Amino acid sequence: MGERFELQTADAAGRIGELTVPRAGVTVETPTLLPVINPHLDTIAPRRLADEFGAEALITNAYIFHGSEDYRERALDEGLHDLLDFPGAIMTDSGSFQLAEYGEIDVTTEEILDFQFDIGSDIATPVDIPTEPGVSRETAETELETTQERLELAASIDTGDMLVSAPVQGSTHPDLRERAGAHAAETGLDVFPIGAVVPLLNEYRYADVVDAVAAAKRGLGPAAPVHLFGAGHPMMFALAAALGCDLFDSAAYAIYARDDRYLTVRGTRHLDDLDHLPCSCPICVDHGAAGLRDLPDDRRETALAAHNLHVSFAEIRRIKAAIREGSLLELVDERARSHPAMLDGYRALLDHADQLEREDPSSKGTFFATSAESARRPEVVRHHDRLDRLSVPDALFLTEGPDPPSDEYDDVWRVVPPFGPVPSALSRTYPLTAEVPTRPDRAALEAAARGVSRLVCAHPETTFGLAHRGWPPAILESLPDELALFDGES
Ligand SMILES: [Zn+2]
Repeated sequence: MGERFELQTADAAGRIGELTVPRAGVTVETPTLLPVINPHLDTIAPRRLADEFGAEALITNAYIFHGSEDYRERALDEGLHDLLDFPGAIMTDSGSFQLAEYGEIDVTTEEILDFQFDIGSDIATPVDIPTEPGVSRETAETELETTQERLELAASIDTGDMLVSAPVQGSTHPDLRERAGAHAAETGLDVFPIGAVVPLLNEYRYADVVDAVAAAKRGLGPAAPVHLFGAGHPMMFALAAALGCDLFDSAAYAIYARDDRYLTVRGTRHLDDLDHLPCSCPICVDHGAAGLRDLPDDRRETALAAHNLHVSFAEIRRIKAAIREGSLLELVDERARSHPAMLDGYRALLDHADQLEREDPSSKGTFFATSAESARRPEVVRHHDRLDRLSVPDALFLTEGPDPPSDEYDDVWRVVPPFGPVPSALSRTYPLTAEVPTRPDRAALEAAARGVSRLVCAHPETTFGLAHRGWPPAILESLPDELALFDGES
């Protein structure tokens, strides 16, 4: 696994990586989006995906080829690359989705892996059991055992230079997801799809998705390339990327287009409801809303699918730019405002701030405090942990602005919500170079007070004073008693 996937730049638990796909002879830069291709529905030709949208990989379903009179022999004779006419990496799904939908499929793990090899797949998938959310622990555990047996079997089969994915199941039981992740990583297989999250995504249960992914990642470790299986809406790419998801696949671009649904990074709109198109892709610029509506059905579907892909790939590029810049969490914060369920997802992400903090680089661009949630970011957690270890003089004055009332203090440190005390020596280092509002919200003041308390409690020998600007009584009451308080507002 290690030599196939190389991490380049990180931000939160998100990262830019390079996945080498030897059978395709390509290296795919992640995060990336794999458009889903159904050979029976020719919405946008794979060649166009590569040339016009820059798709480096796509995903198609081996089970469809396996069961299709039209395509089975052609796929075996020509291979997927020629049949589909796609120069990038081709990943194949095994039919587990059909298993979940229709109850059973009629191939074994060996057969479907051999078949994927024979049709020229670059990244194959064993037949796992996608365990639905909300099932009992017993069911989830039993089904996970079956998935794990199949992964072990898959790992024992010689698949040449074809990569093989190891889906991570476990339903909505975080400890099972974590165990499944650890087991999948141990198999030595190559790519790690987090399975059966589609029902959660369909119900906008983004917080549950975050918990499932965070648990799987704890088991998998940071070195594993992770595929969020079935996640195709650009609204949630940034959130998932910040958790460390590297691959996404989208059937949504085509499925939504069929019903005149128009994807945006802030949610889905119906074409009939749009007078103005909030997008500058070639489709939107050329047609406008009325022009799109006037197109004949088949051309409108293709045009909408193309727009949906443009907006999806643009978001992937935006995420990569944000990771390079160190502003991925600012982007997630922005996306969280598009729907209350996305905000739940962001808040759930911040519940895992300790986990994110372990991957988050210690230095990046500028921290922008843009919401109450900013106070819970991993950088704030890390700064508070660091306060325990700082050396302080015998008497230290902490202040949001006002000068100390006397000269009994040896040093003065600024207090910056949400970080709390900022030692002068660190004030020019990330994240204390943060841009923060001059009118801090309550969450930022509470976080600053937690920082003050951490520092005071860690240094019982030191005399501390604190000058604040009108902090609410409840926050002041949370501070240690020995701290001398001065209200800079009065
Ligand atoms: Zn557009």
